[in-house]
Amino acid sequence: MFGLYLEKDEVVQIMISVVAISFALALVFAGRDAPLGSPVEFAVFVVPLFVTIGSGFILHEMAHKLVAIYYGAAAKFRMWTQGLIFMLATSVLFGFLFAAPGAVYIYSRSITKKENAIISLAGPAMNVVLVFFFVALHYISPINQYYSFLTRFEAFSGFGIGGGIISVWYFGAAINVVLALFNMIPAFPLDGSKIYAWSRIGWLGATGLLLMLGTWIVGPAMIINFVLLFAIVIIFSRLLFG
Ligand SMILES: [Zn+2]
Repeated sequence: MFGLYLEKDEVVQIMISVVAISFALALVFAGRDAPLGSPVEFAVFVVPLFVTIGSGFILHEMAHKLVAIYYGAAAKFRMWTQGLIFMLATSVLFGFLFAAPGAVYIYSRSITKKENAIISLAGPAMNVVLVFFFVALHYISPINQYYSFLTRFEAFSGFGIGGGIISVWYFGAAINVVLALFNMIPAFPLDGSKIYAWSRIGWLGATGLLLMLGTWIVGPAMIINFVLLFAIVIIFSRLLFG
């Protein structure tokens, strides 16, 4: 058996990352004027996003950690302060979420390329589990909430947003499929780079399946958005890491 041991500073860093990612995502959808323009409504809006992207983020990272520990490595979540600031800045300036506030670091001398790829794949795989979980919740027990700043999304139905109403669980499913696809981009330090380094065919297969899932949840726009995201992230990765 293996245990999931979390140190206190690790829990603190995960929580800071989750609060930051929820806040950044809320800014993307509510607009940069919302926190000051309608602070109470904005604060209430952060809660459902915290639940959906928060669970997606934490369980994604814990999946990496569990599989790494299974392979005999030590694994620890480390917040990445520059990434966190970069994420908040792109949300405010461009309305774009660069969801990389930190990652699980693996400490081992004997992890193979294949094991590293499987550790990396565990994160997006966990998001896929959550996609189905949230879709089920959406049909079993839907939660719809109205926010005035969402009225500008006339037909954002792929994310469960329309006419100011957000379908919370459907949004959760959409955001988790986007998280999985974002992490599959083969650019350092994202999961996709380690999967791609192990097997290009494996990477292509997993990404293709995720794109099919994304098209089902978000719509055909998912494919063109993934291509755009792919280009942006590759450029950012080259600029930041060379
Ligand atoms: Zn990951």
